[in-house]
Amino acid sequence: MSFLILARISKRFDDTPVLHDVSLEVARGEIMCLLGPSGCGKTTLLRIIAGLEQPDDGQVLLAGEDITRTPSHKRDFGLMFQEYVLFPHMTVGDNIAFGLKMRGWPQEKIQARVSELLDLVAMPGYEDRQVFELSGGQQQRVALARSLAPNPRLLMLDEPLGALDRTLRDQLLLELRDILKHLNQTAVYVTHDQVEAFAVADRVALMREGRIEQVGTPEALYLHPISPFAARFLGMSNILSGRIHSLEPPRIQTPLGLLQPAELPPGLRQGDPVELVIRPEGAHIARAPLSGPNQLTLTLTTRSFRGAHTLVQLQADDETRLEFEVPGMSCTAQPGDPVHLLIAPDAIVVFRPADPLSR
Ligand code: ATP
Repeated sequence: MSFLILARISKRFDDTPVLHDVSLEVARGEIMCLLGPSGCGKTTLLRIIAGLEQPDDGQVLLAGEDITRTPSHKRDFGLMFQEYVLFPHMTVGDNIAFGLKMRGWPQEKIQARVSELLDLVAMPGYEDRQVFELSGGQQQRVALARSLAPNPRLLMLDEPLGALDRTLRDQLLLELRDILKHLNQTAVYVTHDQVEAFAVADRVALMREGRIEQVGTPEALYLHPISPFAARFLGMSNILSGRIHSLEPPRIQTPLGLLQPAELPPGLRQGDPVELVIRPEGAHIARAPLSGPNQLTLTLTTRSFRGAHTLVQLQADDETRLEFEVPGMSCTAQPGDPVHLLIAPDAIVVFRPADPLSR
């Protein structure tokens, strides 16, 4: 049975609906990420789980118990929010001990727990240091230790690493995930950053305009995005319209010519309009022009060397631009040069004609 169940949660602010009928289940020990663009309702949903906000409709269940109306401080949840900063005038140890003192833990047990937590976040012996002496990354480790100290039934994190630079964030994300998995800590993690969500989550709930668009493991979302919106949000910017040219083999007439995906969604017929996405890593550069499906010659507009890969932007006509990541040294063309590409069939994802919302 799922540990945390959100059942048909709806919420309005004044007259504006912010969450519509949101249902989601989180298993014990699972890290669930709420991912989506700014304003899609992630923080509101997290605040409802935390008891900081009440839903207009729906229920929050934890371990089978309805906690929808349970006050926040009686839920035994931990919070790690970006703005939920450490107390600057207290030592590291006092920061971590704060919640334990509030709960009336005896001093001896508190000391042991603080030291255990500092070991866990790789900062042993930091008890007496002042918070202002710490680096940004160390402060976030202490914040994590503080939120984990009382053994919360559920840990909620809202963009906890948002203030850190990318390199430090990537490093801390891996550590954070290791710590949560080591503790078998159930967690709900809010972010608008797909890379962050994929790095930390067991499963991701992609949100859009107050609804859950798709839930799944990072791999499942990336391999099988449910809509052009999901594909775009997961970093795939090559989106084209086309028509089914043939079903066997599956071929689509597009502004780039015939493209052959690995598969089509069921139920489509010849001539049906479709949308398709080409993954950014799906192109190989060829030395000479080729012919047949999935062979393209496009004009290079920009080339940006990124080390392990090179980002190439290409143009077919005024309206059709594509972007690919190719192996680091494989593209030596200059802007304006023709580039010959071969697209892998499994890099082409086909969608039924879009409903107006999915754009
Ligand atoms: P972000 O990533 O920018 O924080 P989000 O996905 O977390 O966005 P929410 O903060 O949940 O989104 O906000 C969803 C919508 O609800 C927004 O349009 C926001 O302006 C509105 N909203 C949030 N809190 C309130 C409030 N207390 N009163 C009125 N409107 C609110």
